[in-house]
Amino acid sequence: MEEKYRDITLDELTDLCIRRGIVFPSGRIYGGLAGFYDYGPVGVELERNILNDWWKWFVETRDDIYGIDGAIITHPRTWEASGHVESFIDYIVTCTSCGAEYRADHLLEEVGVKIPEYSLETIKSLIENNNVRCPACGGKLSEPRKFNLMFDTQVGPRKSMTAYLRPETAQLIFTNFKNVVFTMGATLPFGIAQIGKAFRNEISPRNFLFRLREFTQMEIEYFVNPEKLNECPYFKEVEELRVNFLSAEEQERGVSEAKSIKLGEAVETGVIKNAWHAYWIGESLRWLWSLGLRPERLRVREHVKTELAHYAVQTFDIEYFFPYMGWKEIEGIANRSDYDLKRHQEYSGEALHIVDNGKTVIPYVIEPSFGLERILLAVLTDSYVREERRTYLRLKPRIAPFKCAVFPLVKRDGLDVKAREIYNQLKKHFRCYYDEDGSIGRRYAKADEIGVPFSITIDGQTLRDDTVTIRFRDTKEQIRERVENLKARLSELIATL
Ligand code: AMP
Repeated sequence: MEEKYRDITLDELTDLCIRRGIVFPSGRIYGGLAGFYDYGPVGVELERNILNDWWKWFVETRDDIYGIDGAIITHPRTWEASGHVESFIDYIVTCTSCGAEYRADHLLEEVGVKIPEYSLETIKSLIENNNVRCPACGGKLSEPRKFNLMFDTQVGPRKSMTAYLRPETAQLIFTNFKNVVFTMGATLPFGIAQIGKAFRNEISPRNFLFRLREFTQMEIEYFVNPEKLNECPYFKEVEELRVNFLSAEEQERGVSEAKSIKLGEAVETGVIKNAWHAYWIGESLRWLWSLGLRPERLRVREHVKTELAHYAVQTFDIEYFFPYMGWKEIEGIANRSDYDLKRHQEYSGEALHIVDNGKTVIPYVIEPSFGLERILLAVLTDSYVREERRTYLRLKPRIAPFKCAVFPLVKRDGLDVKAREIYNQLKKHFRCYYDEDGSIGRRYAKADEIGVPFSITIDGQTLRDDTVTIRFRDTKEQIRERVENLKARLSELIATL
């Protein structure tokens, strides 16, 4: 066996994505625009497969979750009620010599300064006391100032109303709460899910797909009676799951390594405050594992007090270990309490309660919030295998952009005609592509690099006995299969591998 000898670097991954049509910098012909990317012909398939897989897992196959698709621009009062107009800010500093702008907390983090409290005063004195300078030119930094991350725009021909591009999909779920309850007859506990774009004017977008200004969220707001936060009928499905766990209390004591615990234990000892929250952590991890992400590279880290958002009672991040960045959040799972519904009730004057067991309640909310691009980055990083003579993406066939590629061994002797015939049949059932150009070795190499799990090759023998070879991406092993059995065999392989 050839050996996988190291992880991919971010530069190699970026290069692979651009070279193979996965992701392109947006507006590349004009030099690109920081924080914006476009999916290419290969990436769009991968993107859709992950989105569809998420929807199937969390919406289609459940009875307790409804889907919606809200508008990107909605009534601006939404963002006043949610607290975004006032609090969705970062602190920015400008270099007084070269004019470069930085996110103040990132600069402090980079020089190893811990931030005990995320306030203007604290950040200001930490920068001064630690004599933090411009990393580019060493110049003096300005005083930090508040910077709201929402993109605003003007609505209507007279542009008389300032509105915002949504910075999260979640609020559209809250503002549609009543609509869903009334139209679907929803009763507690239930969830509303949404997939869609979110926009944040990040001060320093970086690390390729990790920190973007336009990205895709896959979110669920799961509504529970606040008196029944431990009455989760699905809890037994997750209580035995072992997860790598790092509590806030441990971090405050200086512990930085997660330890393996069972979710049941975490609830019993009170580290996770309620069973529903633990259930959503477990269910999220089960989905992330199903994408093929290595369990040892995933951990659950609780937010320490200073990180906790204004609405949150308790929050856990699911973090992935990116070899080139360390542990980073790919999903947040917050207990948002009844904060959002109460605020929208207050700001809109509409009653946003529900009747549960004859009593009127404003439900609590557990919110699993996944970022598609971060998951995609984790999936690409995790599945990249470099062997001495080739590289390939060990993607699960279920999410691979193309399930198979069809190749005539050579472009003559009728092999191409037969190969096209087979391709035309297969494409009715699987996303696949046809390629007859260049050596078969180069065509395999390209298929490997974009993670095509099965390559079908039509050779001389095919014309004699109507069999083809199926080559397996990960092992390069080849088997022969009758053309008439190809569809069934591929379906079985895709479902089981
Ligand atoms: P948040 O609302 O900040 O907890 O974000 C929820 C999820 O959205 C995160 O776990 C990320 O996966 C994703 N996300 C947030 N901000 C960005 C960003 N600037 N670029 C890409 N993904 C993001």
